[in-house]
Amino acid sequence: MNDVIRDIVIIGTGSAGLTAGIYAARANLKPLILEGLQPGGQLTITTDVENYPGFSDVVQGPWLMDQMKAQALNVGAEIINELVISVDFSDKLKIIKCDSGKIIKTKSVIICTGAQARWLGIESEKKFNGKGVSACATCDGFFYRNKNVAVIGGGNTAVEEALYLSNICEKVILVHRREILRAEKILQDRVFSRKNIDFLWNYVVDDFVGDDKGLNSLNLSSTKNTSKKSINVDGAFVAIGHIPSTECFTNQILLDDEGYIEVKEKGSTLTNIDGVFAAGDCVDKIYRQAITAAGMGCMAALDAEKWLQET
Ligand code: NDP
Repeated sequence: MNDVIRDIVIIGTGSAGLTAGIYAARANLKPLILEGLQPGGQLTITTDVENYPGFSDVVQGPWLMDQMKAQALNVGAEIINELVISVDFSDKLKIIKCDSGKIIKTKSVIICTGAQARWLGIESEKKFNGKGVSACATCDGFFYRNKNVAVIGGGNTAVEEALYLSNICEKVILVHRREILRAEKILQDRVFSRKNIDFLWNYVVDDFVGDDKGLNSLNLSSTKNTSKKSINVDGAFVAIGHIPSTECFTNQILLDDEGYIEVKEKGSTLTNIDGVFAAGDCVDKIYRQAITAAGMGCMAALDAEKWLQET
């Protein structure tokens, strides 16, 4: 089995990876898709999706990803659960090593490993992770039913988390380092009209404070002056953006300063290694939408197909 040489291996099963799989399978390339630690990617930790075209009503993120996966399987993609720990792209034949010990050899690779939540990096954040501090309201919100929580951040994720939590919790306090939200206008309108969401502008978290039982307050500092304050909360949801999941490609392909995969030119999926393509949030730090990731996944599969034909 280990000696089978694949034409194309796709790493990741978010919307980029599954779309690449659908296109590669329909091109009869028999793609092998590797599903990592978060099958389905970031959409599986969201709830309502109302900006993915093709659905007149709101759909649920996990459902949408189940559909994409079923579609990829139906058109002939093979999906296995394997976590990639390292790659060797130094030869024409690319080698992928998985944590199960499995070694996969392939002519081409499409990297669609996405991105994961960014943390503030404070020592106490780690200490209370899972005991009051979380980066996923849809995963952990239920534990804070009728309690008070804070959401940290001012982008779409923070606002969506606050809206979601406001349906479960007594009160939500959105703590943002500026006084203007980065989130889309439609989300801003919704969050400002929600009665049980308060806003704490121009503050950052210095410390997560609690005891053996878990978190009970946040120490905050003003970004405008020297003032400090403490707020009592049972939970805190950090929603300050994302970092690309590209660690296992370090020293194998070109990454930028923030760890995003460099592509040859804007709008391309070609990396600096012949036969290695990349798509979705591991490349894109600007648009980062399910639909743009899907579009890039399609492009990567078409680029890989062309490359395989020419080599
Ligand atoms: P963003 O990068 O858009 O926002 C991050 C937020 O966190 C910003 O408000 C930023 O503040 C704040 N922040 C960053 N670092 C710190 C820090 N160290 N301390 C305090 N605050 C900090 O990330 P998101 O995860 O919200 O969104 C990522 C992408 O995903 C975006 O393109 C977004 O549009 C997309 N997305 C789309 C959704 C949808 O369409 N429904 C849902 C969720 C995400 P500041 O504003 O001052 O920079």
